[in-house]
Amino acid sequence: MKKIGVLTSGGDAPGMNAAIRAVTRTAIKKGMTVMGIYRGYNGLIHGEVKELHVRSVSDIIQRGGTILYTARCDEFRHKEGILKGVETCNKHGIEGVVVIGGDGSFRGAADLSAYGIPCIGIPGTIDNDINSTGYTIGYDTAMNTAMELIDKLRDTAQSHDRCSVVEVMGHNAGYIALNTGIACGATFIITKEMPYSVEEITDKIKSTQTNQKHHFIIVVSEGIGGSEELAKQIERETGVESRATILGHVQRGGSPTLRDRVVASQLGYKAVELLSEGKGNRVVGIQRNKIVDFDIKESLTMKKEFDRELYDIASTISF
Ligand code: ATP
Repeated sequence: MKKIGVLTSGGDAPGMNAAIRAVTRTAIKKGMTVMGIYRGYNGLIHGEVKELHVRSVSDIIQRGGTILYTARCDEFRHKEGILKGVETCNKHGIEGVVVIGGDGSFRGAADLSAYGIPCIGIPGTIDNDINSTGYTIGYDTAMNTAMELIDKLRDTAQSHDRCSVVEVMGHNAGYIALNTGIACGATFIITKEMPYSVEEITDKIKSTQTNQKHHFIIVVSEGIGGSEELAKQIERETGVESRATILGHVQRGGSPTLRDRVVASQLGYKAVELLSEGKGNRVVGIQRNKIVDFDIKESLTMKKEFDRELYDIASTISF
C-alpha cells in the first residue's frame, strides 16, 4: 500500500491527535504517503483531503480535540454516500483508511471496506463504550477531568453541608460514572448497568447522617439523566440541601493524559501495520494490556462486562 488516509469521526476525544500523529509517522516510516481527511466522513464525501507530512503532526501530541476536525455525517449511512467516499479515495489514490472514532464510525469503516477500500478502526471516544476493547482513547483524560471537577464540588458541598448530584458523561455506559464515583468517594453511583431506587439513595444518606456525615456526592451517569429532579427528591426526602451539576462537554476537552497518549501511539502504529500487511475491515484495541485486532462486524457483536466488583467496593467503602 502506497497511500493511506486518516480521519476522525463521531465525538472528539483527547488523544485523537496523538493517534493521528502515530498513524502519520508510522506510515511515512514505511514509505507511504498520508492524506488527512477533514471532518470525518463528510470530508471523505466532499474531497476535503490534504497531505500530512512529518511536521504536519508536530506539536499536537499534547493537544486535545482533533486537528482533522470531526463530524457526524448521515449521508454516509447510505450507499450513495459510501460510493462518493470511494470516489474520493480513487481520485486521490488512497488505498486504505484509518478511522478514529466510536462504534458508529466503525460501521462506516466496515461499509467502506466492503466497497473495496480497506479500513482499520481505532477506538476514540471518552465513553469507553466499545465492546471489543477494554480501553478507548480519551477515556482516561475524561475521567481525570471529571474527578478534578467533582473534587471542587466536594469543597463547596462540604462547606455548606450539601448534597451534590453530579452528572458525568459516558453516553449509555456507566464506566466514567463508576470510576469517578469511586475516585471521588461518592456516597452513591447511579448507572444503567446496576439496579437502584431513589429510596435506596435517600436511605443511605439518612443512615450516614447518623454517622456524622453531612455532605454527600451522588454521581449519575449520562444515560440515566434526571439529575435536577433527583436533587429535588433527595432534598425533599432527607432535608439535605441538594444541588445538581451537569459536567457536560468540558469532559471532552483538555490535554490528554499520559495513558491516552501512549495508547493512542500504540494503536495508531498497529493500525498502519495492519494496512501495510494488506489487512482491512479490522479494529484495533487493548485487552489485558495487549494490543489486539478483530474483524469489524465481529467486534460490533461483542459484549463487555461491567465491573460489578468495583461497583461493590465503591458501595462498601462509602458510608
Ligand atoms: P461516539 O461514540 O463519540 O458517539 P461514534 O463513531 O459512535 O462516536 P456516531 O455518530 O454513531 O458516532 O457515528 C459517526 C459517524 O459514522 C456517523 O455520523 C456516520 O457518518 C457514520 N456511521 C454511523 N453509523 C453508520 C452505519 N450504520 N453505516 C455507515 N456509516 C455509519
